[in-house]
Amino acid sequence: MKTSKELFEYAKRLIPGGVNSPVRACGNVDSYPLFIKRGKGSKIISWEGGEYIDFVMSWGPLILGHCYPDVVVSALEAIINGSSYGAPCIWELRLAELIVKHIPSVEMVRMVNSGTEATMSAIRLSRAYTKRNKIVKFKGCYHGHVDFLLAEAGSGVATLSIPGTPGIPKSVVEDTILVPYNDTECIDKVFKEHGSDIACVIVEPVAGNMGLVLPESGFLEFLREITKRYGSLLIFDEVITGFRVSIGGAQQRFNIDPDLTCLGKIIGGGFPVGAFGGKKEIMEHVAPVGDVYQAGTLSGNPVAMAAGYATLKVLEKMDYNDLEKKTQKFVNEIKKIFEQKSISVRINHISSMFTIFFTDKEVKDFDSAKTTDLSVFKKFYAHMREKGIYIPPSNFECLFMSFVHTDEDLEKTLDAIKSFSL
Ligand code: PLP
Repeated sequence: MKTSKELFEYAKRLIPGGVNSPVRACGNVDSYPLFIKRGKGSKIISWEGGEYIDFVMSWGPLILGHCYPDVVVSALEAIINGSSYGAPCIWELRLAELIVKHIPSVEMVRMVNSGTEATMSAIRLSRAYTKRNKIVKFKGCYHGHVDFLLAEAGSGVATLSIPGTPGIPKSVVEDTILVPYNDTECIDKVFKEHGSDIACVIVEPVAGNMGLVLPESGFLEFLREITKRYGSLLIFDEVITGFRVSIGGAQQRFNIDPDLTCLGKIIGGGFPVGAFGGKKEIMEHVAPVGDVYQAGTLSGNPVAMAAGYATLKVLEKMDYNDLEKKTQKFVNEIKKIFEQKSISVRINHISSMFTIFFTDKEVKDFDSAKTTDLSVFKKFYAHMREKGIYIPPSNFECLFMSFVHTDEDLEKTLDAIKSFSL
C-alpha cells in the first residue's frame, strides 16, 4: 500500500472508521487522514513522502516540536532500563516536583494516563470531598470522553454533529448542569438554585475545544469567588493550557488559584500522560491515604515520565514571551491577508495557540463559535493541505505553534493563505 488513502481504506476494515480518535478521520472536511511516517521539528512526513508544516502538533503536546533531542534522549534513557514496572520510579518524582514547582496551587499530584482519566478522577474526588453530586460544566468545553462530561462537549462531538452520545444513561448526566461559557449571570442563577448541591465547577480556563475562546475579563475571578462562597470546588482543566499559555498555565497567567487542576498533553512530552493535583488537604482524600479510589497499571510509566520531565526542563529555559510575540505577529499577518480578500474572519489568540473563525461575529462562547462558516473552513482546510500546511481538520480546534517553528515555516504558511480563494 503506497498511499495514505489506501491505508485508510484498509484501516476501516480493522478499526472503527479507520481511526483511534474520531476527529482525525477528516470526514467532516470531505477528506481522509494522512498516515504519518515521521515527524521532525515543525514538520511531518506522510506515508507517501509529502512534507507538511505541522500546526496540529499532536493536538497540543508538542510545544517543542517533533523529536526534540532532550526529550528523545530522556525517553531512551528510561526505556533501556525497562518500559514499565508498576512500582515507583525516580522519573515520577522528578516530573511531580516540576509540576508542583511551577503550579503553586498544586501541592500534590497524581499521575494518570490521559486527560480523560485526570478529569474523571478530579470530579470523583470533588464529589467525595464535598459530599455533593452536582457538577457545573460549560457548553463547548471538552474534558475528555467521561460519561457525565460528554454533554455539549465541543470539538469532536460538534464536528461530527453528534448531539451527545448514545450509551450514556440519563441518570448519569442528570447531575451535570450546563452553562454558557463567559455567562456569569447564568452561573449566578444556577448557584442560587442548586448551590448547596454543587460539588464543583469544571472549566477550561482558556477554552480550546470550541476553537479558541478566551475568558472575558472577570469571568475566572467570578468562578473563584462563587465557588468559594458556596463551598464548591473549582477545577481548572489545564490539559491544553498547562505549560502552554505560560510555564504556570492559565492559572498563573490570570492569577487564579483553583482547588484542583487537571493536566495532560505537554507534561507527557508526546507520550500518553495525564495528572490531577491540588491542595494537599483535598488530595489526601485519594487512596491509599484517603478512601477515594483511583488507580492505573501504567500510571507513572517511566518512559512517559522521563519524556515529560525532559520537556518541562527545556521549557524552563524557553522564552514564552518571545513565542507569544511571534505568534501575535503571525496572526496579525493572517488577519491582513483575509481583510485584503474581503473574507470575514475572527481570530482568537493567546500565547502560542489560535483559531481562525470564518465569521464577522465576536466569538466568546459555543453559540458564537458555531457562527463560523464551515463551508469556507472546508475549502480552507483542503487548500492548506494541498499547499503542505497541516492544520486541524475541524474549525472547533486550535492551531498550535511550537518553539521550533521557523520564520521560513511562517512565511510559507502566509504564502499558502495568500493563494487561497473561495
Ligand atoms: N481536557 C481538555 C481540555 C482536552 O483538550 C482534552 C483532550 O483534547 C482532554 C481533557 C482529554 O484528554 P485525553 O484526550 O488525553 O483523554
